[in-house]
Amino acid sequence: MEYRALGRTGLRASRLGFGSMRLPTITIGSTDYIDFDRAVEVLHAAFRMGINYVDCGFLYVSEQAEIAVGRAVNAWHSPDDIIITDKATKFRLERQGDLRRMLEHQLQRLERDWLHFYLFHGIGWDNFWELDTQTGWIRDMFRAQEEGLVRHVGFSFHDEPQAMIDLINLGWAELVTCQYNYLDRRNEAAIRYAASKDVAVVVMGPVGGGRLSVLPKGVAERTGWSAQSAAELALRFVASNPGVDVMLSGMNSVEMVAQNVAAVEKGPLAPAQVQEIAALMDYYGRLAKLYCTGCQYCLPCPQNVNIPRVFELFNYLTVYGLEEYARYEYTRLMAKGQDASQCIECETCLERCPQSIPIPSRLKEAHAALRAGA
Ligand code: SF4
Ligand code: SF4
Repeated sequence: MEYRALGRTGLRASRLGFGSMRLPTITIGSTDYIDFDRAVEVLHAAFRMGINYVDCGFLYVSEQAEIAVGRAVNAWHSPDDIIITDKATKFRLERQGDLRRMLEHQLQRLERDWLHFYLFHGIGWDNFWELDTQTGWIRDMFRAQEEGLVRHVGFSFHDEPQAMIDLINLGWAELVTCQYNYLDRRNEAAIRYAASKDVAVVVMGPVGGGRLSVLPKGVAERTGWSAQSAAELALRFVASNPGVDVMLSGMNSVEMVAQNVAAVEKGPLAPAQVQEIAALMDYYGRLAKLYCTGCQYCLPCPQNVNIPRVFELFNYLTVYGLEEYARYEYTRLMAKGQDASQCIECETCLERCPQSIPIPSRLKEAHAALRAGA
């Protein structure tokens, strides 16, 4: 396993990190709860294979992931060698002092006195400041760091790439966690910027949240990769970016850990393959954008149809050839009542679309294609 220096922190982390949001579960009623014995077994297998970076979150797996991670790390022969990152989630912070209360609760769940990293969770530029006005979370974060509850501070990120650069320019972040995979390379320049400022970069979603566990059409022909190696290709593509330090994978079995470790240990792809895949994805991206840019100007729809998401899934199906993913995600959209069949052709959205897409008829087309064979 390759280890990388995490920016200016003095810590070294394994190239593959363990995301704790998919630890093994049991289902009671309609809710999934952690299967603690299996979770500890999988985490210990990961540690034995060289993984020393674990990413946690307050809400993960019915709020039990931190308990499982704490049990696994504390039972490991050298717990302080395992780097734990946890996050203050904006979804549960409402009042002044909530970050501090959340952190103390997380430390109790983990049965620890301190964390290697504590992150502002899933922030963008605007909500970072808005939540600070509401809760004072910046003050609380740095007080926790002064008191030694938190060694290093950073953020995980969901916004436009420029916002990531602006947040880094505030100067305090030692680590950033962001999306990056070969379908979504929007953060490429911001990742380069983070690396140039000695800020560690941890990538979530290297396999595109499951989208890239199958190969988009054309990739096998151009690269010679087989469908069985789709996840490996996705991981090694991300590993080819020199600005990326750690790739997170949410793993729920020992076999999956072994497969991912084996993939990452093969190292980055050859530069020519990286270029080939990037060029193909750029081409698909241009095709998809000819159709719907995802600008969301058509929303809200009185029937709650998530128009850009329907068209995005239609693109995954028809442009990228990611059939299984597109159809699965569409059934989830149907379950939320946001799918194309809800459209009553009121035409409210038509004049708002800068692409002049005939939205109601295209929605019908998308629905038929995404439901074909269902
Ligand atoms: S035409 Fe359909 S998608 Fe557009 S606003 Fe009306 S109900 Fe929504
Ligand atoms: S306004 Fe048009 S281009 Fe923008 S998201 Fe809606 S359908 Fe797509």
